Amino acid sequence: MIDEKLASPRSYEVRTYGCQMNVHDSERLSGSLEAAGYIRATEGQADVVVINTCAVRENADNKLYGNLGMLASVKKEHDGMQIAVGGCLAQKDQGVILEKAPWVDVVFGTHNMGSLPTLLERARHNEEAQLEILESLDVFPSTLPTRRESTHSAWVSISVGCNNTCTFCIVPTLRGKEKDRRPGEILAEVQAVVDDGATEVTLLGQNVNSYGVEFGDRQAFSKLLRATGSIEGLERVRFTSPHPAAFTDDVIDAMAETPNVMPQLHMPLQSGSDRILKAMRRSYRSTKFLGILERVRAQMPDAAITTDIIVGFPGETEEDFQETLRVVEESRFASAFTFQYSIRPGTPAATMDNQIPKEVVQERYERLAALQDRISREENDKQIGRTLQVMVTATEGRKQAETARLSGRAEDSRLVHFNVPEGSATPRPGDVVTLTVTEAAAFHLVADTPAGGKLNIRRTRAGDAWDRAEAASCGVPSAASAGDAAPKVSLGLPTIRVATTPIYDPSDSLR
Ligand code: SF4
Repeated sequence: MIDEKLASPRSYEVRTYGCQMNVHDSERLSGSLEAAGYIRATEGQADVVVINTCAVRENADNKLYGNLGMLASVKKEHDGMQIAVGGCLAQKDQGVILEKAPWVDVVFGTHNMGSLPTLLERARHNEEAQLEILESLDVFPSTLPTRRESTHSAWVSISVGCNNTCTFCIVPTLRGKEKDRRPGEILAEVQAVVDDGATEVTLLGQNVNSYGVEFGDRQAFSKLLRATGSIEGLERVRFTSPHPAAFTDDVIDAMAETPNVMPQLHMPLQSGSDRILKAMRRSYRSTKFLGILERVRAQMPDAAITTDIIVGFPGETEEDFQETLRVVEESRFASAFTFQYSIRPGTPAATMDNQIPKEVVQERYERLAALQDRISREENDKQIGRTLQVMVTATEGRKQAETARLSGRAEDSRLVHFNVPEGSATPRPGDVVTLTVTEAAAFHLVADTPAGGKLNIRRTRAGDAWDRAEAASCGVPSAASAGDAAPKVSLGLPTIRVATTPIYDPSDSLR
C-alpha cells in the first residue's frame, strides 16, 4: 500500500488485547497488511493503527474506548491516519464502536480478518467508515498470510470456535461453532514453520480434545500429536487448551510416547465444586478432573500441570469455594491463572441470580492465590538441583533488565532465568542451554553458573534463524537470506516475523 502523497509505503501497528488466540490472529493481520504492501512502523506514529480486541476480560470496552479517545487526538495531527478495530469486541459491539468513536475508519470481526486491507482502502477511497462483520467463517484464518512473532516458536491453529456452552464464556457467541482444519493442512503448516527455523510449535484450539469430531474421528487429536513426532527438526510440541470433559486416554498415551511432545499440560479446572461446574455447564466433575491428572502423572511423572480457575461464580458458597481449595491442594498445579468472576454481558451467567459481592470474591481470590503461590513455590523448590534443557527466549519478563540474566523455558515450560558467566559464549534465542537449577521462586527458577564456568550451549536451527532475522532487520544480508527478495510473507508459510504489541496490563489480576 503506497501513500500517494509521499510515494512511500504506509506503515502499520497492531495492538493486541487478550489471549494467545488473539495474539496469533494479530500475526495474521500483520501478514495480510504486509502482503498488501504495508510496512511495520518502527518509529513515529503508524499511518494505520489496528486494535485487535478481546471481549473476555472485564473492562475490555472501557480500555478500548480509552485507547480510541487517545488516538482521536493523534489522528487530528496525522494527516491520512486510519484506525481499525477488530476481534471479539468488534464482533460483539459492531456498529456501537462507530457510534461511540466516529473517528474510527474500519470495524471488522473475528471471521473476516483477511478483508482488513480492502476495508482500509475502501474507507480511504470513499472517505467513509467501513463496518464489515461476518456471522461465520468464509476463509479459515490459517490460510491468511502470517507474520510470526518469534523465530523459534510458532502457533498453529487446529480449530477455531467452540461447541461448548460454558455459561461464563462469550467465545461460542463470538467465534461460532468449532471448525476443524484437516490434519494434512495442519501438518503442512507445521512443516513450513519448521522449515523456516522454528523448533517449537504450539497447537491452538478453544478445545483441542474435540478436534476431529467435525470430520468423524474422535482420536484425531492423539493421531495429530503422534504425527508431529515424525517432523524432522521439530523439538518441542505443546498444545492449548484441552477440556477435561473431552480428554481421553489416547491423548495421554500419545503425549507420553511421542518424544517431542513436552511434559506439560494446561488443563482448565474453573471450579472444584461439582455444583458450580454444573452451573457453569462444564460437564466433568472434580473426580474426573483429578483422575486425568493422576493418569497423566502415572505416565509423565515430571509433567508440569497448570490451570485456570474462576472465583466467585454466581451462587458460589463458602462450601463450594472450599471444594476448589481442596481440588487445588490435591492437584499440585505448577501454576494457575486465577480469575475473579465478573459479569460478561451476553453470557448466560450474566443474568443469573446470586451474583457474589465483590468483597467476597476478592477475599476468596486472595485465599486461593495464597494457596496456589505456596504450592507453586513448593513444586518449584523440588526443581532445585535438577538439570534442565532450557530453550532461550528473546525477552521474558522484567528479571532480565534487573539482573542481566537471560531467560528461557524448560521442557515443562517453567520459566528459567540464568546468568552468562564472564568468558562464556552467549546463547541466541532458540538455542538450548543445559542448566542446573540453583534457586526457586513461585513464578520462576534461577539456574546460575558459578564464576569461571562456561554455559553448555547447543546451537540450534532456531538460533540460526534468529541470526538471519537480525541480519535482515539491520539490512545486512546473511548467507541464507542473500538473494531472497522481499516481501517474505506467504500463505500460511511465514518467513519473517514481527512483534505485535500486547497491551494488556501484566499486573491485571484478571489475566
Ligand atoms: S470450552 Fe467453554 S470456556 Fe472454553 S471456549 Fe468453549 S465455551 Fe468457552
